[in-house]
Amino acid sequence: MNKAESNRRNFLKFSTLALGGLSLSPLNGSASETSNLTTSAPEEKKLNILCIGAHPGDPEFGCGGTMARYSDEGHQVSFLYLTRGEAWAGDPTLSFDQAAKIRTKEAEASCKILNAKALFASQIDDHTELNKKRVEEMTNLILSVNPDLVFTQWPLDSHMDHQVTACLTYTAWIKSEQKFDLYYYEVDTGSETVGFTPTDYVDITDVRDRKKAAMFAHQSQGPEKIYDTDFKAMEDFRGLEAGVKAAEAFVHFKTKTKRATIQGLK
Ligand SMILES: [Zn+2]
Repeated sequence: MNKAESNRRNFLKFSTLALGGLSLSPLNGSASETSNLTTSAPEEKKLNILCIGAHPGDPEFGCGGTMARYSDEGHQVSFLYLTRGEAWAGDPTLSFDQAAKIRTKEAEASCKILNAKALFASQIDDHTELNKKRVEEMTNLILSVNPDLVFTQWPLDSHMDHQVTACLTYTAWIKSEQKFDLYYYEVDTGSETVGFTPTDYVDITDVRDRKKAAMFAHQSQGPEKIYDTDFKAMEDFRGLEAGVKAAEAFVHFKTKTKRATIQGLK
């Protein structure tokens, strides 16, 4: 290995470890290069990762590929659903209780595919609340998981429940004195998420089929009607930006101690 190559490998190793072993910047080279370095780093800490979404399906649609990669590499992954999707399970005659049962089962099946643990908060679909009591509830739930990284929905979104999820998580992050790194994910950009400019990308090419299976576990949401036009299109688009076949994109809010740093400077 020549010096330039050695420096490049060190740079990639630093960048992957700093982001939990899975981040792929558009300028950081190929995904396979990144993956090899990650698996061969013996000092890598196993991370506790919490992914929060308003409804069953949101974490899977937004970052199911990234979560599959994390769990494959031995990190602990939990999904926290704010609601059980009570407002819609594909049939308008269903009660909230009936719909919640269907969607809870779908969420659990989906989590099994991604090797994630399913957790549920106590809010109600289409009626989520952002207030002091709910912030305390969210803060306590997050702290009970003791995560290293938290992924949540982006606040600028056409769905009110997604806005509430983003704001609850952000306030919990502030209240917990930024104990964890915070990442925002996008869902159905252009239709739901808007104004999202990614800071980080993850190559999901190798886990794309598993992510699709996790999304299709949510059968009551008719994923086959929007997969090609919405979800696959987004993975392709983010993949083009990142220089890989398929990618997911994130906005990373670093903790205060990591903000004034840049790679290569001590
Ligand atoms: Zn949603």
